[in-house]
Amino acid sequence: MAAGTGRLVGRLALVTGGGSGIGRAVCQALAAQGSKVAVVDINEAPANETLQSLSCDQGLQHLAFGCDVSSTQSVSRLLTDVTQRFSCAPCITVNCAGITKDEFLLKMDNRMFDQVIKVNLKGTFLITQAVGRAMVEGKIQNGSIINMASIVGKVGNLGQCNYAASKAGVEGLTRTSAKELAKFGIRCNAVLPGFIETPMTDAVPQKVLDKFRDVIPMGRLGKPTDIADVCVFLASEESSYITGASIEVTGGLNM
Ligand code: NAD
Repeated sequence: MAAGTGRLVGRLALVTGGGSGIGRAVCQALAAQGSKVAVVDINEAPANETLQSLSCDQGLQHLAFGCDVSSTQSVSRLLTDVTQRFSCAPCITVNCAGITKDEFLLKMDNRMFDQVIKVNLKGTFLITQAVGRAMVEGKIQNGSIINMASIVGKVGNLGQCNYAASKAGVEGLTRTSAKELAKFGIRCNAVLPGFIETPMTDAVPQKVLDKFRDVIPMGRLGKPTDIADVCVFLASEESSYITGASIEVTGGLNM
């Protein structure tokens, strides 16, 4: 892309879970559209690897930050650091940090349930609240907050009662944030990926993935870029009248 021609030129994006899979692809897609990117991950080394992969047209400065999204202190420090280092609040935020701890309902350990809720749901809440405050304070125009939910939050999935509950919660959080923040010019939307080829799904047994592939109308698992392209749309002016929506990106699975 020629310098200065992207759809997100001059905007600052904060992406959690930016060190891997979907989050990394989102960072790359936003940077390719001219956005400055704050790559955020609990693991700093992979966040720095993502940073090295970002396009730097017009001398764009991207930065990587370590943060545990499930910790109030860590999130508060992150927002202070990001706003200081970039001298402005983010106007785009994509919440991609997430974990799985799978087990059948009858065997699910309380700690596994709590851990998944703490990262996927509470982490999304903490980042949304901190970014929302920074956007309002910084009088950001056309803010866009995008939350990674999951098709599993809508239809359930064997062995994922904790994960499905966390992702259904993310959709409720997104719709409420959308209602409360619309008057500040901030839009909030959820993306519901189906099965996407990332390190997260690498942990799923091949025969289970094959079973899902068989019932996906488009006949393939998704790629991280399939999700990243939708995030670019939701971050851009092209979606300026869309808020509180849940967009399924599943290749037709469970429609
Ligand atoms: P991934 O495991 O490749 O990446 C997740 C990233 O989140 C990792 O870099 C990890 O270090 C980071 N992370 C984990 N805990 C964190 C914390 N406490 N604070 C900050 N960062 C943390 O997973 P992915 O497949 O790229 O998933 C990204 C998002 O998309 C997740 O929210 C996931 O639930 C969601 N999702 C994925 C799929 C899929 O099929 N891959 C489907 C639906 C939804």
